[in-house]
Amino acid sequence: MRRVALALILSTCLAGTAAAQLVPPLNTKPMATAKVDTIPAARDIPYPGTIRLTVDASDVTRAIFRVHETIPVSGAGDVVLLYPKWLPGNHSPSGQINKVAGFRASANGRDLTWVRDTLDVYGFHVAVPQGVRAIDVDFQYVSPTAGNQGRVVATPDMASIEWIANSLYPAGYYVRDIPIQASVIVPTGWKVAGALRPTGQAGNRIDYPVTSYEILMDSPLIAGAHYRRFDLSPDVALDVIADNEQELAAKPEQIAVHKRMVDQALKTFGAQHYDHYDFLLTISDYLGGEGLEHHRSSEDGVTRGYFTDWDNHLGDRSSLMPHEYTHSWNGKFRRAADLWTPDYRTPMQDTLMWVYEGQTQFWGYVFAARSGMLTKQDTLDAIASTAASYGLGTPGRVWRPLEDTTNDPIIAQRSPQPWRSWQRSEDYYSEGQLIWIDVDRIIRQQSGGRKSIDDFAQAFFGMRDRDYGELTYTFDDVVATLNSVLPYDWRGYLLRRVYAIAPEAPLEGITQGGYRLVFTDTPSNWTKVSEKTRKNTDLTYSGGFTVGSDGKIGSVLWDSPAFNAGIAIGAEIVAVNGRKFDSDAIKQAIKDAAGKGAAPQLLIHDGDVYRTATLDWHGGLRYPHLQKVGSGPGTLDALLAPR
Ligand SMILES: [Zn+2]
Repeated sequence: MRRVALALILSTCLAGTAAAQLVPPLNTKPMATAKVDTIPAARDIPYPGTIRLTVDASDVTRAIFRVHETIPVSGAGDVVLLYPKWLPGNHSPSGQINKVAGFRASANGRDLTWVRDTLDVYGFHVAVPQGVRAIDVDFQYVSPTAGNQGRVVATPDMASIEWIANSLYPAGYYVRDIPIQASVIVPTGWKVAGALRPTGQAGNRIDYPVTSYEILMDSPLIAGAHYRRFDLSPDVALDVIADNEQELAAKPEQIAVHKRMVDQALKTFGAQHYDHYDFLLTISDYLGGEGLEHHRSSEDGVTRGYFTDWDNHLGDRSSLMPHEYTHSWNGKFRRAADLWTPDYRTPMQDTLMWVYEGQTQFWGYVFAARSGMLTKQDTLDAIASTAASYGLGTPGRVWRPLEDTTNDPIIAQRSPQPWRSWQRSEDYYSEGQLIWIDVDRIIRQQSGGRKSIDDFAQAFFGMRDRDYGELTYTFDDVVATLNSVLPYDWRGYLLRRVYAIAPEAPLEGITQGGYRLVFTDTPSNWTKVSEKTRKNTDLTYSGGFTVGSDGKIGSVLWDSPAFNAGIAIGAEIVAVNGRKFDSDAIKQAIKDAAGKGAAPQLLIHDGDVYRTATLDWHGGLRYPHLQKVGSGPGTLDALLAPR
């Protein structure tokens, strides 16, 4: 109170004289002009007519999608068409407006003048003359032709067709109120999968029924030459499009674990929030990877080997399909009130991402373990890796609360970071997972084993079977539901864990749940597979860095020996102790330095400069593991056991 009052007095005293002196007397001084938003706000009223949309996705060699829309209008004047900006599932303003080209609006064959909105460049103002009932709009979505332009969505063998990148919608309406009938054109012989069931096919054109613009945006397609479909339950299917026929060769036991994963999720949540659900799995070394949730489907994009190199695709099995499926309940149906928006122009607020993504990350691993998609040991190793990463591996905890990282989809939009461990990133995913493991531990211990987080799941997600609208919630609703399962100071707990600066990682779900986090000189299978997948050597806890098989530095832990040796992303290790760099050489040098050994000398190449850096680390090789404490099962064992 006193400091504010003093500041106020000072600023009042100084305002007059300081301002006069700050601007040289001869300088001209503009005044701010009002910024007037001329785009009509969304209203919950019926839209007059049905939009017809055709997306021609047949030009896959150039990856150009040609879009035609006929949009009914209610009269003459300024009509604003919007390209989706705030994308559900991305939680950020990441619509690729820069890839909209060739925009043309016409009516009865005559071009209409248009101008882009300069306050919101996703808006096109079209001047509609008297007597016009509908306007025709044409544009191309010129999708990325190389990975550095964005996610590649078309290859000669397959395409990921997202209506949300391939349509415009009229401003002024809730998107659920806008009727639309969509068609897609694909190359000859291609198969198409998605949550919408076609009404017909004419040649290469497939027609879909009239639905709302919101449901259409939530129902993307995958298409390709090589396709197989597997039923996972009466209501759930796995649609696979692959680079070639060999990649479709799923073994019966592999499909069986996917079925068990679906079954475990249904047993946990109860009600389903879809009439039918499609996993849209693409297996490709050319199409961009993806994991994007929808109510009645998910886009799951992996590299080759998902079925054919099963043992080396652990990460795809734990944090992809079980994760995206969970989102049908957590994120799509139950959605934070400040995240839900009536259209794709209203900004989304990500404050409850530690529920949306954190608890989904949690259930993804739990369902993977309960179904056998991951072995229990691999799951424990993965949790060990996460625990280490958000403890030792995240020194940025001392300045940035977990809650603040929920702004990162908007701040960083997943751009590469120089010092991730200090800046922090979308930590609400995996640190959220650790918190929910601990919440389960508390519920189990306090209830004497009678209750668990499964009771929370039933209470929070398991209502209104087959409702695939959105049921919004607030922080208070999360606290109230936890209290209905088990009375406890959940508000205080979550405020400490999520909203306050918490220098210590939330590891009690592990350390009081039957395990301890230890480091040994041998990597777990989980670490080995992840090194193989990433083609790197993980020395995060053995000097503080990861390095690619080509010697390029992948990450440097803030304040670590590598950091103190002046090593940063962008540099390359050329030699280790005078010998050519390779993964074995660096690991051997770190082993040799353990205890009283000589510190590794690294020849670093950075721009035109070569220099020797001394890695002052004598702790040897260190990899995280969970070690069992006590003889009986702990709460973590109970959590991972199948229902
Ligand atoms: Zn997610």
